[in-house]
Amino acid sequence: MSDTKKTIPLREGLWTDKGHDGTPHLLGHRCLNCGEVFFPQKENGTCTNCHSTKLELIELSRKGKVFAFSVVMLRPPGGYYRGDVPYALANVELPEGIVVEGLVTDINQDDIKVGMEMELTIDKLHDDDEGNTLMTYKFRPSAA
Ligand SMILES: [Zn+2]
Repeated sequence: MSDTKKTIPLREGLWTDKGHDGTPHLLGHRCLNCGEVFFPQKENGTCTNCHSTKLELIELSRKGKVFAFSVVMLRPPGGYYRGDVPYALANVELPEGIVVEGLVTDINQDDIKVGMEMELTIDKLHDDDEGNTLMTYKFRPSAA
């Protein structure tokens, strides 16, 4: 048993650490037939809107605006989330026209506002049972 601790993504394929501009980007699918954009990628490779199987992998925009958010006071059951509580979950609308739900970091929960510009960041979710650090995507107030 190795005691080497690893940093591992919550799930493969949710984002790329180095996109076209060298920064992290969420990975989605765009339907080449109807233009619908999906996040996460469609695992069955089929557009929910038009049932086309012509999907292209795209890097989603790093920035978007808070569409809605909620502050969660209790850890959800199931042990899936082991981070701090309360925590904020935001629905961030990206320029591609889709809304992505993610944890919010680097801001006091009382200061989150609808319409606020957020940017993507890759951050620690929690340590797993083997002591590895699970990483996930989050949103933080945009620097610019
Ligand atoms: Zn489609």
